[in-house]
Amino acid sequence: MNYRASQNHDELRHRAEAELERLNLPADVELSDIVRQVAVATGKRIDVEPVGDSDWENVTGLVLMTADSARILVRKSDPRWYQFHTVLHELSHVLFGHHGCVTLPVKHPGTRHVRAGQTVLARGIVTPDFEVDLDFGDKDLVMEAEAEKLSQLLSRLVLRPRHGRDEAVFG
Ligand SMILES: [Zn+2]
Repeated sequence: MNYRASQNHDELRHRAEAELERLNLPADVELSDIVRQVAVATGKRIDVEPVGDSDWENVTGLVLMTADSARILVRKSDPRWYQFHTVLHELSHVLFGHHGCVTLPVKHPGTRHVRAGQTVLARGIVTPDFEVDLDFGDKDLVMEAEAEKLSQLLSRLVLRPRHGRDEAVFG
């Protein structure tokens, strides 16, 4: 896949929306639907595994990618909703075709999970104004912003109120 990083905010947003379209998600979407549709769209087998956290200080998720698979590791001790967002974020990297880059600090214990032929993308702590301050000259940062943008679009779908009545409660 020929990945090219977005050059500006408009392109980043449009591409995230295009990736979302490509998923063809059902109306009443669950996380399992998203995992399945990412597998269909990319032709990769997708596995999600919660892992222990003893030495995961700054990284809360990882995706190990090969040509035909993506293994997503999430930190077991994180709150459910956060693990959930991390899975969406890592799936977004897979969809965008981000690969061949390593955002993981070289000495990070996560590198232990890496085997030959795999590339790793790690999820660290992301600041809320991440996208606003984005330096489009830094490809690694652009990839993080692309994944973050798409995962926000995805979580909005899954976390939307299930019933009109629920929505009414919040005005
Ligand atoms: Zn990431």
